[in-house]
Amino acid sequence: MERKPFIAGNWKMHMTVAAAEQLAAAVVATCSQVHDRDVAVAPPYTALAAVARVVAGTPVQLAAQNVHWEEKGAFTGEISPVMLKDIGCGLAIVGHSERRHIFFESDGLINRRLLGALRQGIKPIFCIGETLAEREAGRTLAVLEGQIRAGLAGVEPATAGQVVIAYEPVWAIGTGKTATENQAQDIHAFVRKLVGELFDKTVAGHMRILYGGSVKAENIDVLMRQEDIDGVLVGGAALQAEEFDRIIRFQ
Ligand code: PEP
Repeated sequence: MERKPFIAGNWKMHMTVAAAEQLAAAVVATCSQVHDRDVAVAPPYTALAAVARVVAGTPVQLAAQNVHWEEKGAFTGEISPVMLKDIGCGLAIVGHSERRHIFFESDGLINRRLLGALRQGIKPIFCIGETLAEREAGRTLAVLEGQIRAGLAGVEPATAGQVVIAYEPVWAIGTGKTATENQAQDIHAFVRKLVGELFDKTVAGHMRILYGGSVKAENIDVLMRQEDIDGVLVGGAALQAEEFDRIIRFQ
């Protein structure tokens, strides 16, 4: 099954507006030379509109780092999917491990965010991942299955294809430790099989499953060679133009 590779950079709480515009322009320059893969950047909210202007009319896609489920309302500190659409932002990360573990976002809350995004035509990049303690207790697959079943609850098969899943082992995020390509491949195959059970084989065959966790220039090629790894969600290395350029140009 052909799945277009997808490389996404999560800039987290980094970048002034001017720095974000500069980095986005560098990504646009790379993408004017590399055409057979999708590329997205997720700046902080303050830089989203400015980066939207930089990437407008280019293949570079824009993602938010989170999204609320309502169109508007009394939800201090939140951003609605309608607001994202308004500035040309078509993707939103939901369930990032930092949201789960630092801000205590539950599976149920993440599910509401994901469904709210889909209702407005925003594609969710739905993150899942086990902690080191969960892995060492032999609970990795059970944890991931729970996150997937809860996060995708209520998603219609017709819209399931809009979802991108990002497997990001918590112990590998920002730590310099990467899952081996075999560890990641095994998990991705498990995730795809589960998606097939929840929806059907066609949805599973088309769904893009990204790996995230200390992806860098030196490990991108081997990760992308795995059958079920369809792309990557990159944190730290996405902040450096040259490093991200090399990641986008994976071979
Ligand atoms: C992330 O934030 O999604 C991530 C994978 O970060 P890093 O690449 O820095 O580990």
